[in-house]
Amino acid sequence: MKHTKLFRKVAALLFLLLTTVSLSACAVESDNSVRVYNHVKSSKTITWGVKFDMALFGIKSVKTNKLEGFEIDLARLLTKEILGKDGKAKFIEVTAQTKIPQLKNNNLDAVLATMTITNERKKSVDFSTPYFKAGTSLMTKTSSPIKSIKDLNNKGRVVIVAKGTTAADDIARLAPKATIRQHNDYGACTNALLAGQGDAVATDNGILAGIAKQHKSLHLVGGTVAVEPYGIAVEKGQTKMLEAINKALKEAKADGSYHKLVKKWFGNIPGFSAKEVEY
Ligand code: GLU
Repeated sequence: MKHTKLFRKVAALLFLLLTTVSLSACAVESDNSVRVYNHVKSSKTITWGVKFDMALFGIKSVKTNKLEGFEIDLARLLTKEILGKDGKAKFIEVTAQTKIPQLKNNNLDAVLATMTITNERKKSVDFSTPYFKAGTSLMTKTSSPIKSIKDLNNKGRVVIVAKGTTAADDIARLAPKATIRQHNDYGACTNALLAGQGDAVATDNGILAGIAKQHKSLHLVGGTVAVEPYGIAVEKGQTKMLEAINKALKEAKADGSYHKLVKKWFGNIPGFSAKEVEY
C-alpha cells in the first residue's frame, strides 16, 4: 500500500517534470521561428543578400557606385511593406556559391538574388512564393554555328556554367554528350566564351540578357530550355519572416507596384514581357 502511494507520487512528479521539459522545448522552438522577424522589426532594417554584378537584377553602377536593378528595387519595396516607411534595406553581396552559406551564418535576413526554387535547395532553406519566371538559355558568339541545345549535344562541345548554379544540371540532362566547364563567376564565364574556350554559356535568360547587352559579339540562342522560378530564401524554420515576405509580395502584386518594377527593368527587352516573367 505504502509502496503504491510512493510510486504514484514519483510517477506524478516524473509526469510534471516531463511536461515542463517538453513545454519549454516547444517554447524555445516557437521562439526560434520568429527570431529573424523580431530582429528585423526591432532594428527596423532588413539585410538582403543580393547580386552586385548582374545587370538588370542587382549591379553596382560604375558611374554612381550605387546598387541598381529589379531585385534591388523589389527588396526596397518589400522592406517598406514589412517595416513601414522608415524601414531600411541593407545590402550584402552574394554569389551563386555563397547565397546559402551566408544565410546559414546569420549574415543575412533573406536572399533575393536570382535564386531558383529547387527541391534540393528546399532541404536547406525555405523559399517564398515565386517572383520571377526565368528560364535557362544559351549565349554564344554571334559568329557561332550553335543555334540550339541540340547543337550542343555532341562530343567535343563545351558548355560553360557558373559554379553553384542550376545550369550544370540542366545541361547534363538536356545535352548529356557535351562537356561542362565550371567557372567561379559570370565574368570568368564570359571571358572564357570570348576566348574560345567553350561553345556556349548556359544560365538564366535574364542573366544572359544583361551580359549580352554589354557585348556586341554575344547573343542568346535557342529560347529557354528549362523553367527557373526565382524565390526569396530565408533560413529554414524562420516562418514568421517568410510569412511577412509572402504577404508583402502579395500586396505588391495586388497594388500593381510589383508589375511596375517588372516593366521598369524588363519592359523593352525582347522575351521578357510581363506575361512571360511575372507571377
Ligand atoms: N538561377 C540560377 C540558380 O539558382 C542561377 C543563379 C545565379 O547565378 O546566381 O542556380
